[in-house]
Amino acid sequence: MRSVYCGGLNASNIDQEVTLCGWVDRRRDHGGVIFIDLRDRDGIVQVVFDPDGEENFALADKVRPEYVLQVTGKVRARSESTVNRNMPTGEIEVYGTQLQILNTAETPPFQLDAYTNVGEDVRLTYRYLDLRRKDMQRNLVMRSKITSAIRNYLDANGFLDIETPILTRATPEGARDYLVPSRTQEGKFFALPQSPQLFKQLLMVSGFDRYYQIAKCFRDEDLRADRQPEFTQIDLETSFLNEDEIMSITENMIRKVFKDLLNIEFGEFPRMPYSEAMEKYGSDKPDLRIPLEMIEIKDLMKDVEFKVFSGPANDPKGRVTAMKVPKGGEIPRRTIDAYTKFVGIYGAKGLAYIKVNDKDDLEEGLQSPIVKFLPLDVRKAILERVGAENGDLIFFGADSYKVVSEALGALRCKLGEDLNLYTCEWAPLWVVDFPMFEETSDGGLTALHHPFTAPSCSPEELQANPATALSRAYDMVLNGTELGGGSIRIHNQDMQQAVFRVLGISEEEQREKFGFLLDALQYGAPPHGGLAFGLDRLVMLMVGADSIRDVIAFPKTQTAACVMTDAPGDVDKKQLDELHIRLKAKPQPAASEK
Ligand code: ASP
Repeated sequence: MRSVYCGGLNASNIDQEVTLCGWVDRRRDHGGVIFIDLRDRDGIVQVVFDPDGEENFALADKVRPEYVLQVTGKVRARSESTVNRNMPTGEIEVYGTQLQILNTAETPPFQLDAYTNVGEDVRLTYRYLDLRRKDMQRNLVMRSKITSAIRNYLDANGFLDIETPILTRATPEGARDYLVPSRTQEGKFFALPQSPQLFKQLLMVSGFDRYYQIAKCFRDEDLRADRQPEFTQIDLETSFLNEDEIMSITENMIRKVFKDLLNIEFGEFPRMPYSEAMEKYGSDKPDLRIPLEMIEIKDLMKDVEFKVFSGPANDPKGRVTAMKVPKGGEIPRRTIDAYTKFVGIYGAKGLAYIKVNDKDDLEEGLQSPIVKFLPLDVRKAILERVGAENGDLIFFGADSYKVVSEALGALRCKLGEDLNLYTCEWAPLWVVDFPMFEETSDGGLTALHHPFTAPSCSPEELQANPATALSRAYDMVLNGTELGGGSIRIHNQDMQQAVFRVLGISEEEQREKFGFLLDALQYGAPPHGGLAFGLDRLVMLMVGADSIRDVIAFPKTQTAACVMTDAPGDVDKKQLDELHIRLKAKPQPAASEK
């Protein structure tokens, strides 16, 4: 029906006859001449109808925004005075000779040409209209280009695209499972995969060597900021490659995608141990565009009388740290108050600070509500350690290790944004040498990545000192976002069982949940490892969107619902009966009672 896309037209098409199909973006009546901006996924072009073409003109008079049209016409140059330099097709227009209205449209519930002032709920309810907007079209086109570039790269590097099941057993990645009741096996449930982790490992046992999949994953999490219950991973697994080789292949992939699609060159990614990332940036995904660092001052605070500092300083699980903001002395008091509230979100009970007015006058030159609690030698030592200059501001964190790291880590990012401290546009890195386990709130241990990650030590050492064991895991981080993570896996049964034991998983439970994996490890499992990238986050960063919802065609809301289809929805009793399910909240009469 069409010969060319609207957005594809330019001066080289002048004098050609073209047929366009698209939506009416705008219609204007200029004293007897009707201008229609016709839009398709490629862009917008101006079409002109004048009264000479009588029938067409009458039709053109009837069209309204979002009507669907087929237009045939001749491309012509615009007169010098009407050229629109802001429009890619602004040098030309199409003089319409035939017009067909393919469909009419109701007035849309919101303007499609403006991005502001539309509540997200409305946008998501009419997502098919929201997706007609330029930004959303651009995002999804970019997403498609990214996946295509990734497939090409992986194909060229010998990776095979293999699908794994969606109806499966639990694959632990630290979230709740989405469950699907079985109709044929009463009382049993499938779980939707939190990731293809175990299947991709089994594919390595089968000898496929290099696997990838652009895979949907499902995690029923309490939706913290910008998570989706279903999201997409670029999932990879390889055999006979060590961590350096896996990092190199995947780093090259990301480098190539950025170069090919955005013409951005990344140098080699630096590597940073987890311990350093936590110590300096309070985060395992540090945003290295921001030049602020946390500096430990625990040793300086052990003997001060001020309990807020000396308490955590003498607690092995405590942390006391300082973060200097160069020239931060200009930050107004009310902004500091707002930051105090902000760190409260992360559990910090306050936010101590010192404004350095005159670093040589330890009595009068330091402006701060807390400085009076600190002896002069401690004041001096702090200033020296952080390298303070006059005009700087020093923030302090004193609490448990977790609270201080999270609170000051988040404050660091907020300061970076608020004060525009970024030193570069892109800062990729690898974080390596993660601990195997982290402590849970009840004092137990849980896998920091997942329980199939190989430790850097022997099973015996692991069992002797699980809390300090490191793993062979690696995360790729870009601008403070975890783009991907993976590890070398355990490929023998003894080690796998040692990890399960540390996690307190009984032999019986091991067999029940992971018997198939433990068996497979006994039939010649090769050394293997891999990684998964979050596709949604990658696209979000590459298009500069604020949320992953803006790069997913049909995302869920913060309450894990789809407002357009009204999912999750009710299910009728017959279907529930077939699934052997009776609802607790809305009790139905049991089949036998009828
Ligand atoms: N399955 C892991 C995840 O979803 C990634 C990996 O270890 O390859 O985070």
